[in-house]
Amino acid sequence: MNKPYLLISMCLLGEPCRYDGKSVPLDGTIIEKLKEKYTIVPVCPEQEGGLPTPRIPAERKGEKVVRRDDVDVTAEYRKGAEVALSLCRRFGISIALMKAKSPSCGAGRIYDGTFSGTLTDGDGVTVSLLSGNGIKIFTENDINSLL
Ligand code: SF4
Repeated sequence: MNKPYLLISMCLLGEPCRYDGKSVPLDGTIIEKLKEKYTIVPVCPEQEGGLPTPRIPAERKGEKVVRRDDVDVTAEYRKGAEVALSLCRRFGISIALMKAKSPSCGAGRIYDGTFSGTLTDGDGVTVSLLSGNGIKIFTENDINSLL
């Protein structure tokens, strides 16, 4: 039987694609369980949007995404979101496991744009686009629902 596809934030798989050049890997046994159950499609929307790694951190400010040095990177974030959505369309993906709190991949709670570590209600740019197109979003905080 064909396994369902699962879009996943690449940094959760151990890829050092975060702004600080690091990853935030899930436990190895969890990754194995996910691979048993799903066909994994990794994506890093910020890299797909053309941003370098490492990169200056950015946070959502309303509809914009702004770096800590005030440079507007909204276009790059939107481009990365479009790439993630096109992957979902190409593979018929309806579920995604995304990295919590990220300005791209966060779901429900993200940093508030003050670069003070404060969270606010909201989704990352990619998660906004994916969920608006019917893709069900999970994060590493509710991963048990996927296993
Ligand atoms: Fe991870 Fe998403 Fe940030 Fe890429 S954009 S480093 S996948 S949280």
